[in-house]
Amino acid sequence: MVVLSKSFNEDIPKMVIETGKDILGKEHIDSFQRCYQCGTCTGTCPSGRITPFKTRKLMKKILCGMDVFHEEDMWMCTTCYECYEKCPRNVKITDVIKAARNVACKMGAISEPHRKTALYVFLTGHAVPVNDETKKVRKNIGLTEIPPTTHKYPEVLEDLRGIMADLDLCNKVGICPTTKVLKEIKPVKWEEMSE
Ligand code: SF4
Ligand code: SF4
Repeated sequence: MVVLSKSFNEDIPKMVIETGKDILGKEHIDSFQRCYQCGTCTGTCPSGRITPFKTRKLMKKILCGMDVFHEEDMWMCTTCYECYEKCPRNVKITDVIKAARNVACKMGAISEPHRKTALYVFLTGHAVPVNDETKKVRKNIGLTEIPPTTHKYPEVLEDLRGIMADLDLCNKVGICPTTKVLKEIKPVKWEEMSE
């Protein structure tokens, strides 16, 4: 991949580190700087087998200060941690991707499917609500039809929504707490992020 100097923005890798370091520590997130582009991550990535997503390429783009925050590819990672286990340079790949996604969220660039998943959590307390098929499977293996979650205790849903609001999640994801539907998100420019 040829990196043109005009596309290099040194603030991009810095922003990924800044955003991820509060949760996992600076050394954990800036591990992407150890990447020597061997491609093991791409070779082990189950998502990359069926989508255009290339883990190695994403690491390189972050390293080279390229805008990955508006690319759909980044959202195709399923966070399975296969690459994380296999990287010979101990790059904390999955967590780097999560940090980069957090930056994208701050910029109003979260992917549409992830927005819908967040809305499911807001509405039901589950990213994947239990449907009739799942209830049948649960019953067949000796479990209660519904799990002891918000499905069983819907009264705690309001608490969950309060937590989402406190974390500013509704705002970032674009959930209107009143109408309980997704609204448009105002994109934040890079210059505004770096201020
Ligand atoms: S496996 Fe590790 S060192 Fe190899 S390309 Fe992926 S992140 Fe870089
Ligand atoms: S964590 Fe993401 S990038 Fe890594 S192997 Fe799994 S899907 Fe691929």
